[in-house]
Amino acid sequence: MIVLGSTGSIGVAALEIASAFSREVEALAAGRNISLLNQQIATYRPKFVAIADERDLGGLEARGARVFVGGDGICEMLEIASSSLVINAIVGFAGLKPSLHTQYCKKTLALANKESLVAGGWLLDTKAITPIDSEHFGLWYLHTNRAIRRLVITASGGAFRDTPIHAIKEQTKSSALKHPNWQMGQKITIDSASMMNKIFEILEAYWLFGYKEIEAFIERSSSVHALIEFVDGSTTAHFALPDMRLPIAYAIDPIKAAATAIIPPMDLSQILSIRFDPIGLDRYPLYGLKDMLLEDPKLGVIVNASNEQAIAHFLQDRIKFGALSEIVEQALSVFAPRLTELDSYHAIASLDAQVRAWCDELIQSRIS
Ligand code: NAD
Ligand code: MG
Repeated sequence: MIVLGSTGSIGVAALEIASAFSREVEALAAGRNISLLNQQIATYRPKFVAIADERDLGGLEARGARVFVGGDGICEMLEIASSSLVINAIVGFAGLKPSLHTQYCKKTLALANKESLVAGGWLLDTKAITPIDSEHFGLWYLHTNRAIRRLVITASGGAFRDTPIHAIKEQTKSSALKHPNWQMGQKITIDSASMMNKIFEILEAYWLFGYKEIEAFIERSSSVHALIEFVDGSTTAHFALPDMRLPIAYAIDPIKAAATAIIPPMDLSQILSIRFDPIGLDRYPLYGLKDMLLEDPKLGVIVNASNEQAIAHFLQDRIKFGALSEIVEQALSVFAPRLTELDSYHAIASLDAQVRAWCDELIQSRIS
């Protein structure tokens, strides 16, 4: 198999499951954590390795692996590799091109990179994607051929779920990175605090399952991940401890996963204390984008680009937490009226770059 984003939170867990299931790892791709990548190369001895930046070539210990650089390098690597399974655990827009190329190469796309769907779901064969996201795995687990009334996913509420509302705007990265339930990469941890992660996941659910009747609720323990309400009046729920190894194991080998104790079962006595609370717009203003995005999912390109760029500045302590939602909303007001068909990767990447440049200017003007 191939693991893209191997040094991240999902990538490391995917390699752990690959070892447990005795799957050969043919290729690895990572960003700039070269020391961890070097350790992974020593352990898994891949034939192919891709890194994001040529400045890191000097520190790379490839041990005979053929080396590729950049997004085009990942695509070339995908063409040469013979594995049929690609786990895409790259973070951000950089994951879209490899997702498209995975399907172009007729390989199976196991997708953690939800930004691929947000910024380009209409270019992907979404029915052929295996989801690696706890909520979408839960929906897949519950899915039957009975008529569905509504899909429901849950949110933990993120780092600021108990912060007084008036104090949220002024928060900085050190507090935003303290997620109550999950250990994840920095960007998704910020997205969880702002509820952008749930907006992305609602679009992800739309692209994967084809329904627009989707709602999210806060479930603080992260032990119910998804529910399906059926037309007949029944509701089913997926309970599991918050551990991404479960969806990853199913993406790698569903038969082995179903026959293996991957994570411990839930303590049933906890279930009585589970509550589902609505997501308040006073605390999470970005959740207010839900209906607009479901109406016109291609707006996801603007939302994704402005959010990613704003988070990059936030992680450098250049803006405060409250600016994240303001920047996304302003970007939408400028770029949404000019939205075009976006029927190619090239068109999407061009809009993505324009939105980012506009955000940089806006942020620069706010600082100076
Ligand atoms: P992370 O920041 O821990 O890891 C990201 C990985 O992508 C790293 O290996 C990094 O080196 C690599 N990367 C970044 N830019 C790259 C580039 N240009 N080229 C090649 N590699 C690049 O993030 P994560 O938490 O593992 O999340 C990865 C993806 O999975 C995100 O899209 C996230 O939304 C999604 N996801 C994560 C979780 C989770 O529990 N962590 C759950 C569901 C979905
Ligand atoms: Mg999720």
